[in-house]
Amino acid sequence: MIVGGGPGGYEAALVAAQLGAQVTVIDRDGLGGSAVLTDCVPSKTLIATAEVMATIEDAGNLGIDLNGSPRVDLAAANARVKALAAAQSGDIAARMSRNGVEVLAGSATLRSPERVAVSTVAGAENELDADMILIATGAHPRVLPEAVPDGERILTWTQVYDLPALPERLIVVGSGVTGAEFAGAYQALGSQVVLVSSRDRVLPGEDQDAAEVIETAFTKIGMDVMSRSRAASVHRSGDGVVVRLTDGRVVEGSHCLLAVGSIPNTHAMGLAEAGVQVDERGFVVVDRVSRTSARGVYAAGDCTGVNMLASVAAMQGRIAMWHSLGDAVAPLGLRAVSANVFTQPEIATVGWQQHELDAEGVRAVSVMLPLPGNPRAKMLDIHEGFVKLYARRGSGTVLGGVVVSPRASELIHAVALAVSHKLTVDQVSSTFTVYPSLSGSTAEAARQLHTSVQG
Ligand SMILES: Cc1cc2nc3c(=O)[nH]c(=O)nc-3n(C[C@H](O)[C@H](O)[C@H](O)COP(=O)(O)OP(=O)(O)OC[C@H]3O[C@@H](n4cnc5c(N)ncnc54)[C@H](O)[C@@H]3O)c2cc1C
Repeated sequence: MIVGGGPGGYEAALVAAQLGAQVTVIDRDGLGGSAVLTDCVPSKTLIATAEVMATIEDAGNLGIDLNGSPRVDLAAANARVKALAAAQSGDIAARMSRNGVEVLAGSATLRSPERVAVSTVAGAENELDADMILIATGAHPRVLPEAVPDGERILTWTQVYDLPALPERLIVVGSGVTGAEFAGAYQALGSQVVLVSSRDRVLPGEDQDAAEVIETAFTKIGMDVMSRSRAASVHRSGDGVVVRLTDGRVVEGSHCLLAVGSIPNTHAMGLAEAGVQVDERGFVVVDRVSRTSARGVYAAGDCTGVNMLASVAAMQGRIAMWHSLGDAVAPLGLRAVSANVFTQPEIATVGWQQHELDAEGVRAVSVMLPLPGNPRAKMLDIHEGFVKLYARRGSGTVLGGVVVSPRASELIHAVALAVSHKLTVDQVSSTFTVYPSLSGSTAEAARQLHTSVQG
């Protein structure tokens, strides 16, 4: 019995069905979960439109005369986002049905580690027995007590796709990954964006050099980045919004987007009654094979707070099934997770990062190769970004890396392969790359580490 049909739930269902289990997925909002319907897929689809806008803006540099400024029809872009998300949810439903997985549209709560109560959307109340339960209920946007979304001008990231037109002046509160991605996208689409960041710089959780590139890129496209500015309240005022900061300053805009983190969907689910332990923030406590404190109950994805990414949710869900159904299983390893921030340029990371190497005292060397020196980058009119590699001193094994570039999400895969398979810098640099190509910079960075790893 799987509660939640996002990547944590539906990927688990496919594995369980493959291993011969009788599987039921209960989901209240639609297969694909927030990942497909409101978060990951919609945001990246909107960002695709923003990227094209940015490319058009810069087309003059490549000798293209577009004769007039392009304009985004946000209603059309949003319609595309919603259609694409619905279609992907439909594809997942079809896969479930092909694999013999039963899907119930409704809300579930736990009665015990072996029993689930379901209120279906059709209004029926059922109690179902299970040999094994997977909780994969995800998370929802956090809001502030003094900043309550109204779905019109004060918005969470799940509500922006109902906007009929581009916000004139959008205040984005929060400069983590979600805030930065939306701020960059709306500025590129044509809004005037004010990014309210409580920290010294945007993207405080990312590589410092990478975050600096993004902050400079944001300023260059005309965004107003307010650092060390904490929002205390957001209220409607006539046809706009007023954001009050904790130091008394006031920022006015037409709309406000709140991007201040997520809350796990674990409240009032009968978890305590079933003996499932949650931490002080409400996340389900799991071990590396996704077991909770209740025998036979597993959990996966955002509701566990473990590296809140769709790829990690899916892996946790699969691991739960392999473990509970007695298949071969390796505990979850987070060292080789590739992650990407979909700003322009993108920031992709994998493996060890500088602060972790410093904290653990790992004997490592690093190189940071600016991308503008790469021949393909020059041809593509790329003026910012870099490839950074970390390698172990002595053995030369690649430990991690950062790529800041357009489509860094694709370029990081070579580094991820090196990290996952413990390749050395010499193995990476002796692999042919296409000339000219951005990936040539990854090989070149590895080549530059050849002598320093021996030091
Ligand atoms: C704006 C944004 C952009 C993102 N972009 C990316 C990205 O590019 N790449 C990436 O890897 N990650 C991204 N993420 C993170 C990613 O969306 C999550 O990590 C992922 O959705 C987690 O999957 P999940 O299965 O745990 O939960 P979800 O996808 O949230 O699915 C949980 C499902 O459970 C259902 N549910 C909840 N409670 C119950 C109940 N009691 N009964 C029945 N059903 C219930 C929910 O309705 C939902 O359908 C993004 C997040 C945000 C906020």
